[in-house]
Amino acid sequence: MVDLSIIRNVGFAAHIDAGKTTTTERVLFYAGVVKRMGEVDEGTATMDYMPQEMERGITITSAATTCNWREHKINILDTPGHVDFTVEVERSMRVLDGVVIIFCAVAGVQSQSETVWRQADRYRVPRLAFINKMDRVGADFHGVLHDLRNNLGARAVAVQIPIGAEASFEGAVDLLQMKGIKYLDDLGTQSEPTDIPESLREMATTFRQALVEAMADFDDEVMHSYVSDLPVAPEPLARALRKATLECKVVPVFCGAAFKNKGVQPLLDGILNFLPSPVDVPAIIGKHPQSGQPVSRKPDTSEPFSALAFKIVVDAHVGKLVYVRVYSGRLVKGTSVLCPSTNTRERINRILRMHANHREEISELSAGDISAVVGLREVTTGDTLCDPKHPVILESIYLPEPVISFVIEPRTRADEEKMALALSRLAVEDPTLKMKVDADTGQTVISGMGELHLEIVKDRLEREYKIRANTGPPQVSYRETITTSAPGEGRYIRQTGGRGQYGHVILEVFPLEDSRERMVFESHIRGGEVPTEFISAVKSGITDALESGPVSGYVVTGIKVVLLGGSYHEVDSSEMAFRIAGSMAVKDAIEKASPVLLEPIMQVEIIAPEDNFGDIIADVNSRRGRVSGSESLAAGLRTVAAAVPLAEMFGYATALRSLTRGRGTYTMEPLRYEPAPSSVPDVLPHGSRVALR
Ligand code: GDP
Repeated sequence: MVDLSIIRNVGFAAHIDAGKTTTTERVLFYAGVVKRMGEVDEGTATMDYMPQEMERGITITSAATTCNWREHKINILDTPGHVDFTVEVERSMRVLDGVVIIFCAVAGVQSQSETVWRQADRYRVPRLAFINKMDRVGADFHGVLHDLRNNLGARAVAVQIPIGAEASFEGAVDLLQMKGIKYLDDLGTQSEPTDIPESLREMATTFRQALVEAMADFDDEVMHSYVSDLPVAPEPLARALRKATLECKVVPVFCGAAFKNKGVQPLLDGILNFLPSPVDVPAIIGKHPQSGQPVSRKPDTSEPFSALAFKIVVDAHVGKLVYVRVYSGRLVKGTSVLCPSTNTRERINRILRMHANHREEISELSAGDISAVVGLREVTTGDTLCDPKHPVILESIYLPEPVISFVIEPRTRADEEKMALALSRLAVEDPTLKMKVDADTGQTVISGMGELHLEIVKDRLEREYKIRANTGPPQVSYRETITTSAPGEGRYIRQTGGRGQYGHVILEVFPLEDSRERMVFESHIRGGEVPTEFISAVKSGITDALESGPVSGYVVTGIKVVLLGGSYHEVDSSEMAFRIAGSMAVKDAIEKASPVLLEPIMQVEIIAPEDNFGDIIADVNSRRGRVSGSESLAAGLRTVAAAVPLAEMFGYATALRSLTRGRGTYTMEPLRYEPAPSSVPDVLPHGSRVALR
């Protein structure tokens, strides 16, 4: 029987530069995974260790790395470095059980740390806060603690207070044990408990009192001691803190200086003590693929197998690696599993546990655990894998549709094939990246989540595949939809000697409430007007037609199509004829159903100095944006949240920089589609040839 309580699936998240990489490095070092401490800044100094360093570079950003700490197994999941990639956040929050959010002791709460914090709130992920860089000039533990409470609204409770700060930062007082931690060597591998320095005694007592008070509600023993004014032992206090953290009622706060090798081991202990194991999280609810009835799976190895594929990486050595989180049962090498979304069975050829510097082949993976699997050919991000005898579909990872695209062309003809291959590889890893060759112009078009997303793809082509490319200007991915219901008819009848063609379809279209949903198809054929064997051909024809709408040739979404009738011919009817007739019928209906152009609206979050607030609002308004909220932050900063059409956001980075003298930052992600006003200028008909730059 596998003991699941020793597993922790955690992520480290931070604003860029707060020290995520450095902290992760230290974790791997102390856990004995890497023998030598790698230094982020020592690009040249580490040249001697190039092979390991290269491996390190790959694995630290790998989707999941496993290490052991005090008889526990910690799976560290990569969390996104950049919030432009919503999907990355989405998928890591889905599969991790707890998260450590790292703050810089000088900069405090920054925009990206705030974004991840909100995401963690949304998914109710228990978390710890680590206030890093306590050695830097200006480090202010208490200031950051205050910001956590005031700006993030967190019930942050210090479980440590720092001993010294800036150059004199030495370690911390453990408020549970009421002991200091003193490091005996530069690498921080040896430490010993010490008495609390005289100068901190009063503060430590006050903080511990606050901790006890906050914890009294979560444990009877703590409550009893608290009301009776008795001393509280560390154990019941830790127990209460664990309970409160798991319920997302409090956030324990740690401090340290990863770079100076101080404070990392207590943080690791904190992960074991306060963050959930897979058995601490509730059963996952999915549905039966056929009946749609809810199905629940407990984190238990005796339950039927279920897992979620959350990331796909194309590895140079082993090919397609699918990272899975097992929710119930066991995944055993050599067996077959069902992928209900495609209704295919796939074989588990190998299971690989990824460590920082090597891969370990394992024969099975139990509930609650995370690893990579080789041999799954059809599986994509968000797919469920399950026991074929006990099918279930777990809630998939929500993948927003791409909203922006550009044409891309290699500079040399010789690279054409190479580029197609490279792009398809990148698209396997990143489900929000789409590519296609435009049938009309023959140009390759890639689409994604934002300008930056596509710039990064272009950059990766250059760096990783040595392909230099030219691109066209970014273009908004418009959509089309219908606004009323309407009937449609399509006849495809050809009589050309010999065998002819006969397909005839009558249908009706209706607008769907949620235009994000592409198409719902229903057949109301009862009397065999369209023979059953041709119905899926009709549906395929409809899907073909929706690729290009009547307004400007963009994809049509948010449409329900009901097949009502038609007719057939004993000899001449074929799948092809019905496919064409279906396509004609739906085009006919859409044209009558008052089609409109839809434009993507982005959720934009701006953080800028309070003084620029007026200008920013005016600018957002001039971009057809709607401000939905604003909050004042510390240090004279203010946030502005707004919904703005993507078409108006080109070049916003530059505009914001000049409005705020470089102090403003912003992030954006797709929110929804809305009908575009007819005044939207320059909507390029889909499929127009684009000049490259
Ligand atoms: P990431 O972007 O969050 O992964 O941050 P990195 O780990 O790459 O760190 C960013 C910079 O901060 C690097 O130059 C690190 O050396 C430095 N850094 C990280 N942790 C500390 C720390 O505890 N103290 C100081 N002074 N610098 C740190």
